[in-house]
Amino acid sequence: MNKPKLVIGNIKMNLETSQARDEYITNSLEAFRGLSDSQKSAIVICPPFLYIESFVQAYKFADVAVGGQNAHQELRGKNTGEISPKMLASIGAQCVILGHSERRATGETLEQVIQKVINAILTGLTPIICVGFTVGSKDAQDEGKILKDEVNEIVSALNAQQVQKVIFAYEPVWAIGSGKTPTPEHIHTMTLVVRKAIVGVHGPDTKEIPVLYGGSITTENVREICVQSHIDGVLVGGASLDPANLARMSSLLNQ
Ligand code: PEP
Repeated sequence: MNKPKLVIGNIKMNLETSQARDEYITNSLEAFRGLSDSQKSAIVICPPFLYIESFVQAYKFADVAVGGQNAHQELRGKNTGEISPKMLASIGAQCVILGHSERRATGETLEQVIQKVINAILTGLTPIICVGFTVGSKDAQDEGKILKDEVNEIVSALNAQQVQKVIFAYEPVWAIGSGKTPTPEHIHTMTLVVRKAIVGVHGPDTKEIPVLYGGSITTENVREICVQSHIDGVLVGGASLDPANLARMSSLLNQ
């Protein structure tokens, strides 16, 4: 069987009440019921921090992983209002989205993202590192260069063991929540840039590190973008608010 293609849902600051949270959990358990074990285990859901424990409890027997949407760059300290990676790991989160463009837009720097990645790994979390935020141009050459430099900077800060523990998500900022996606060829080219940058620094042992695509993925476009390509799955924002979409995506990608 081929390597499973991941379907990671970023719920963002949605599900505003505990009732909405409970409905989502009930609907998702129903939606995932018809999936095979490998289709289920390809799904990761990243709810708001407050709900992580409820999701972990609910999915205990469903083989669906739960992750955070961010973690603080420091392991401990006086950081009012922040959540440390150890806290996430201790309540059962298995991974954490880091460097999302919506966080970088609030001033999060690449340096901070790198520190977050290192400390997330240290506490046993798998970082899902979003790259492509700085990409302002749709010119493939420019975009490729900017992306390569960004990935280079991240992976150069990691040692050979650390780099094996990460997942990358190529997310061109203009595609997020816009309903617009780059062409499958463009996505293929850019995710290859990410992969080559990792291998360029750490060698051929890193060519299996998952590289995902994120930005306006739907059940209609997911196959076209992923199936024929080396892309290892998708990071899904808006469409993840209906868990049936995540189930459908996993079954389309992992047949
Ligand atoms: C995202 O926020 O990471 C994302 C991919 O969002 P959307 O699917 O809504 O474009």
